[in-house]
Amino acid sequence: MHSQAREQLIRAVAATIVQHSEELTTLDQAIGDGDHGLNLKRGFEAVAAELPGLAEKPWPDLLKAAGMAMVMKVGGASGPLFGTFFMELGKTVGAEPDRAAVVAAFAKAVEAVKARGRSEAGQKTLLDVLVPVQAALAAGADAATLKAEAIAAADRTVPMQAIRGRASFLGERSVGHMDPGARSSSLIIATVADELNKQGLMS
Ligand code: ADP
Ligand code: MG
Repeated sequence: MHSQAREQLIRAVAATIVQHSEELTTLDQAIGDGDHGLNLKRGFEAVAAELPGLAEKPWPDLLKAAGMAMVMKVGGASGPLFGTFFMELGKTVGAEPDRAAVVAAFAKAVEAVKARGRSEAGQKTLLDVLVPVQAALAAGADAATLKAEAIAAADRTVPMQAIRGRASFLGERSVGHMDPGARSSSLIIATVADELNKQGLMS
């Protein structure tokens, strides 16, 4: 993947988050403190501001830098979790990853998020998107399937009761709302799948 393609990918993800910032804020107003849209927007704008230089770095360095920017700029509970995800991807993915390398790195990154959040799937968090997407990826899903699974997985958090994060303070009142972190994760994954598909890197 050339640096222009990497730049396009990062810009697309940042644009998606900016476009959906108000939606994410609304979701977080229902079961959290209403900052998730702004938190992520600030983080991805900081990452995009490092372009085009950032995209010229090899994947491990790029992902490490993006992860550190997420930790420093996003804040809240989700900043360290997204940061951990990207940094761990960077540690394991290698400079010219093939599909097998991406599958393995994604799995390690999901495990790192679980350890960092002391959380697992089923607790109404971003892991309820990351874990099923990881399974689909490992099973050989194409881009359209991955995107559909990410979106559907976020939808499946609606009937769940939150057991981790701020939303857990609401107990049963967290039921009936989509988890903001699950939604943002699904948007990021859907955009990456679309871009890789467009660039002919994932059919
Ligand atoms: P904060 O809750 O500090 O305001 P954000 O609003 O940015 O942070 O992010 C909230 C999201 O973070 C939640 O919707 C959830 O998906 C995710 N989250 C919070 N705590 C955890 C955790 N322990 N494990 C996994 N994800 C979590
Ligand atoms: Mg919040």
